[in-house]
Amino acid sequence: MTMSMAASHAKGKFATDNIFDANAAAVKAAVQFGKDKVTNATIGALLDDNEVLVCLPTVEKVLRNLPVEELINYAPIAGLPDYLDAVIDLAVDIHRPEAYIKAIATSGGSGVIHHTIWNYTEIGDTVLTTDWFWGPYRVLCQDALRKLDTFTMFDEQQHFNMVSFQEKVTALLAKQDSLVIILNSPAHNPTGYSLSDAEWAQVLNLCKEIAQDKSKKIILDVDIAYLDFAGEKAASRSFMKQFGGLPENILVILGYSMSKSFTAYGQRVGAMIGVSSSKDVIDEFVNINQYSSRATWSNINRGAMRMLATIYKDKSLLAQVDAERNRGYQMIQERAGIFTREAKAANLKMLPFFGGYFLTIPVNNPAAVCDKLHEDNIFAVPLAQGIRIAVCAVTSRKITGMAAAVAKAKAAV
Ligand code: PLP
Repeated sequence: MTMSMAASHAKGKFATDNIFDANAAAVKAAVQFGKDKVTNATIGALLDDNEVLVCLPTVEKVLRNLPVEELINYAPIAGLPDYLDAVIDLAVDIHRPEAYIKAIATSGGSGVIHHTIWNYTEIGDTVLTTDWFWGPYRVLCQDALRKLDTFTMFDEQQHFNMVSFQEKVTALLAKQDSLVIILNSPAHNPTGYSLSDAEWAQVLNLCKEIAQDKSKKIILDVDIAYLDFAGEKAASRSFMKQFGGLPENILVILGYSMSKSFTAYGQRVGAMIGVSSSKDVIDEFVNINQYSSRATWSNINRGAMRMLATIYKDKSLLAQVDAERNRGYQMIQERAGIFTREAKAANLKMLPFFGGYFLTIPVNNPAAVCDKLHEDNIFAVPLAQGIRIAVCAVTSRKITGMAAAVAKAKAAV
C-alpha cells in the first residue's frame, strides 16, 4: 500500500480533467503540425477570429484605470455594497421578481455552487441536476461529502423532460427533507439549451406542489453563468419574474458570474443572489453564506468588483460593454449556425442549441469519436454520452467542415 497522510475523507481524491487533457493534446498537435492545421474546440473562453482571447475593450480600459489601491486592497467579506446592488440589477434587469432579494460576493459562479451545497444540504445528501452537466458539479458535491444524482434532461422531442424531473425530485424528497436542484439555464453548458418560460412554469409548479408539505424544502440553484450569451437581454431573463411570490420553503439562488459576462474568468468574481418571499430566509442567507466565505476564501477580488460597479454606474460605459459583448455573442451564434446547418446536411444529430459557449453531439462512444477526430487534427471534449464543441473558441473558418468530420468519425467507430 502506498503511504498516505490524507484524512479518510480525502484519501484517493484525484481530479481527472477531460477538458484539460483534450486541450493538452490540441496544444501538442499545434506544435507538431502548426496552429493553422489544428482545430481546438476544447477551450471554454471566447476567442476572436484570430484565435486570440477576447477581453471586452471597455472592461480592459476600466480595469487598467482603477487606482492601484482598488486593485490591491481587501474588500468586505460580503462584497462591495455597490457591486452587490449592481449584480442584482444586471442579473434580473426588468424581470425583477416580487421577493426579498440579497446578494453575497463569491469566488466566481463556482463559489455559488460551493456555498449552496455546503449550507443547504446535510452531509450525505444527494443534489440533483441534469444528466448533461458541467463536470465540476460532481466534484463540488463529492468534496463536500454529498452525492450528485441526475435526471434525463431531454424528452423524445428534445424538450425539457418534465417526467424524468418529477420522478427524481419526488424520489429524492421522499428520502430527504431538503433538496438542492442545480439547473443551468439559459444557455446550458454543455448543450446550449435554455428552458422556455413555459418549462420554467412547469418546474415551479411541481416545486410548489411538493412545497405544500411544509416539512420539505427546495433550493433551486439557477446557474446563470452564460446569461449574457443567451440572446436578447430582456427576453433571456423573462423567466426570472416567476421566482416572485413562491412559498417560503422554496429558495431560489441565482449563480451570477463575471467570468463570461465581463470576460473576467481568472479574476474569480461572482455572486449568489438569494430570492425568497421570506425576510427571515434572506437574512439567514446573507449570514450563513458570508460566514462560509470567511471560512473558505475570505474576501474576493476587489478590483474586478470595482470595475463592474464603475461600469454599471456609468450608463454609457454599460452600453459600450453590452455592445462589445453582443459582438462576441453574434460571433458565436454565427459559428454555431455554420455547425448546425452542416450537421443537418450530414445527418448528424445535435442537442438543441440556443446560446452560450458550447454545443453537444450525442454519440455512443465519445472517447473513441474524439480519438478518431484527432486524425483530422480536431480536438473536442469527450463527455459521458457525447462530445462537446466549444463554439466560443473555434473560428468560422475552422468550424466550416467540422460537422462533416464529426459525422465521419462517429460512423467510423
Ligand atoms: N457554471 C457553469 C455551467 C460553467 O460552465 C462555469 C464555468 O465554466 C461556471 C458555472 C462557473 O464559472 P466561474 O467559477 O469561472 O464563474
